[in-house]
Amino acid sequence: MSAQEKTQRPVGLTPPRPKGLTPMMDQYWDVKEAHPDCLIFYRMGDFYELFYDDAVTAAPVLDIALTKRGKGADGSDVPMCGVPAHSYEAYLPRLIKAGHKVAICEQVETPEEAKKRGGHKALVKRDVVRVMTAGTLMEDNLLQGHENNIIAALVLPRVITTQAMAGLSWMDISTGVFQTQAVPAQDAAMVIDRIGAKELLLCDTDAQNPDAFDMLGAVQTSITTQPRSLFDAKNAQARLLDLYGVKTLDGFGAFEGVEVTAAGTLLDYVRRTQKGACPHIRTLTRLTPGMVMEMDVATRRNLEILKTLGGERKGSLFHALDTTRTAAGARLLATRLSAPSCDMREINRRLDVTAHMISAPALRETLSDHLSRMPDMERALARITVRRGTPRDLGMMRDALNEIFNMRRAMQEADDNALSDLMERLALSPAIMGLQDRLNELLIPEGLPTLARDGGFIREGASTQLDEYRSLKKDGRDRIAALERAYAEETDINTLKIKHNNVLGYFIEVSSKHGDRLLGWGAPQGANDQPASLRTHFAHRQTLASAIRFTTTALSELESGIAQSVERSQAIEQELFDQMVTQVIENAAALSPLAEAASELDLATAQASLAQDRQYTRPQIFEDTRLQITGGRHPVVEASLPQGEFIANDARMDEGTALWLITGPNMAGKSTFLRQNALIALMAQAGLYVPAKAAEIGLIDRLFSRVGAADDLARGQSTFMVEMVETAAILNRATDRSFVILDEIGRGTATFDGLSIAWATLEHLHEVNACRCLFATHYHELSSLSDTLPRLTCARVDVKEWKGKIVFLHKLVEGAADQSYGIHVAKIAGVPGAVITRARQILQNLEKQKGKNDMNALPLFETAQEGTNGHEPHPALQILEDITPDDLTPREALDLLYALKDQTRP
Ligand code: ATP
Repeated sequence: MSAQEKTQRPVGLTPPRPKGLTPMMDQYWDVKEAHPDCLIFYRMGDFYELFYDDAVTAAPVLDIALTKRGKGADGSDVPMCGVPAHSYEAYLPRLIKAGHKVAICEQVETPEEAKKRGGHKALVKRDVVRVMTAGTLMEDNLLQGHENNIIAALVLPRVITTQAMAGLSWMDISTGVFQTQAVPAQDAAMVIDRIGAKELLLCDTDAQNPDAFDMLGAVQTSITTQPRSLFDAKNAQARLLDLYGVKTLDGFGAFEGVEVTAAGTLLDYVRRTQKGACPHIRTLTRLTPGMVMEMDVATRRNLEILKTLGGERKGSLFHALDTTRTAAGARLLATRLSAPSCDMREINRRLDVTAHMISAPALRETLSDHLSRMPDMERALARITVRRGTPRDLGMMRDALNEIFNMRRAMQEADDNALSDLMERLALSPAIMGLQDRLNELLIPEGLPTLARDGGFIREGASTQLDEYRSLKKDGRDRIAALERAYAEETDINTLKIKHNNVLGYFIEVSSKHGDRLLGWGAPQGANDQPASLRTHFAHRQTLASAIRFTTTALSELESGIAQSVERSQAIEQELFDQMVTQVIENAAALSPLAEAASELDLATAQASLAQDRQYTRPQIFEDTRLQITGGRHPVVEASLPQGEFIANDARMDEGTALWLITGPNMAGKSTFLRQNALIALMAQAGLYVPAKAAEIGLIDRLFSRVGAADDLARGQSTFMVEMVETAAILNRATDRSFVILDEIGRGTATFDGLSIAWATLEHLHEVNACRCLFATHYHELSSLSDTLPRLTCARVDVKEWKGKIVFLHKLVEGAADQSYGIHVAKIAGVPGAVITRARQILQNLEKQKGKNDMNALPLFETAQEGTNGHEPHPALQILEDITPDDLTPREALDLLYALKDQTRP
């Protein structure tokens, strides 16, 4: 499968336009040809219809009926399916999740306008108003509140190596974040994984490059290919200059050419999907090398940072730590966990705010109370700026500004200098206060609708004119009730009712029994009758099985008065809505930093409570290479156990003891120990408090984790192959500032192979990488390496044997383990008794063959040591050293070969 095939609908799937189409189907084909890579949601009355291939593709995904709409010119059926227009958003996530793009094609004029334009046969104009793709959504019901929705563009060099640079740019259009990074091409996947891109733009020629496919294979993202012509450096730069109204980008950072191309191309794509409406985009920022802690795709997956290996949120580090009150706060936590910082000042700045919140419990409580009422301001802002906002979004903006105002006041009252930076960032400028007042003045307090068109969201008293129309409308209703009473009295029909429906408007309804009387009512009957002019004339409108409907002149006049006041009041509300939207857009640049500061406040407040509840501590960050953790715990495992049951352990690494070899029985807690230290380091650099009594961390540039084994069958790699690829990445990339956890390297192959690989890996980590490393293994033989590797420390996770059973103590102690207790664990796991007994016998036999577990008895290591320890060389080597091959006759050479063979016989 090529990278291009990863996109579900490659360009060009559209069959040629059939001939002899109706004008409407001709219009459909115009739209389809302009958007060949999209499923077209074509608006027809109250439905969005899909035709031809689109219908065949979408119907099974949406689980809706595939029908047909007439026949094409060739006589074949035209497949069709449809979804109701009022609920179409419910169908979109499934299509987008399946990798499709959807173009929403609306009627852009009313039938009346069409008639005015082109007579009664004129077709209503339709146009695509938006293209919906995985990376360009901003609706709350299509997004996860706690997840960023990132779209990225990647510009690759011709050859993908570790030297050639690629340009990556990404944006979250639902929050306005816009960033770039230049990365060695081979590391692009790592960055795409870190930012969690939902959609990746790639130029079509790059998508065909098998190296690109290999490199991108590990990341889960939907790839959208674009023609190379759209990845044009000059145009890209011009677009960015135009967006920010500047003459040069130098003020934003020293961008590489590839970054600018990626950013400009991305901007163009986003604008095209929004059909010209440009979302609010923040200043373009550049991530420079070394700013964030690097983690490759495997490490990120193994550490289960945002999701578990099974793809669940529950059980991940994020899930265990997220106690934020707002969606934006949760997104910030996810961002910080995904990209821990390498900047000591920034880390301490984050920790300072949390420390402060811990020391101010009363303020913290007040703030969390306000935060729990704080809506998702960033996303409401994004929708408003592309003019897809609703009265409800304006209400969210108002509520958010009110909460920010209240939070800042609470902070002011607390008179706390340490919070001055955040307070400054949360200050409302006069313009924003003006907006806040306006929103408060105009909008009803709650129950705001999601459609501006129907009105009903402006407060009473906000506009005198609107109030007048509203009272006319209400007055009209009262007058209708009075009319109903008068008619019932006049006709002596108690059951006469004035009703309303969308087809007839207001009408008078009586049962069929009384209907006949009304039919002649108001017409002159005879000399003794009441004069017709004094009676109301009931004009017939409709006869039903059980009722007859009428209208009167008075009722019609009243009705048109009501209709007019409804129409006018709606027009006034729409106008006020548009004014508010414009005012928000004008202030977008100041609103978005407010939202950001509020999310920081949320995260710090939540972290402070978490740190107190779970006894987390503030980590200390250093520039050296220490990693000293006292009483460390695993944040996720601890949270899953009853309180107090998790056994804390220390890790003490510095320059002299950087490499720890950890042995211990199965189930003792080796993997847990390894992971907890990696997670503590990661949390510390994310600027979070950590589950330990004390933690001193020397800044880590790269974190590596090779834990557990998993097949990657989709990419054709076996468990062992995956293990070796990941090990290779560590050995090639770990620096003396890196931290590596390695769990059971080599277990995926035969014992001697595995042991040799583990042995050599440990030596390489010690001698070449010189990084901090926790190395867990069942090869107890490796502990003998502590004699030759001075920075290697042996530790084991302790167990106790008690009445023939083992008790896991989960406590790390110095020294190496001598047993694996694998059979014990097999027994606990429920392996049948017969198998356990047989395994014990086999183990005893093997152990009897003494020496097999002794390192020096292994032929492999004998040979290795012979070379290094200066023992007598093998006699065969002696023979080889003595000969001069050119002097030998063929016969002598053959004899020599036999002699050598003899020498190697045991
Ligand atoms: P194996 O060698 O079989 O992979 P292991 O030594 O790596 O095992 P872990 O998987 O880390 O063992 O731990 C096994 C279980 O023991 C965990 O699921 C957890 O429930 C428990 N455990 C581990 N460490 C601790 C601890 N420090 N305190 C309490 N329980 C622990």
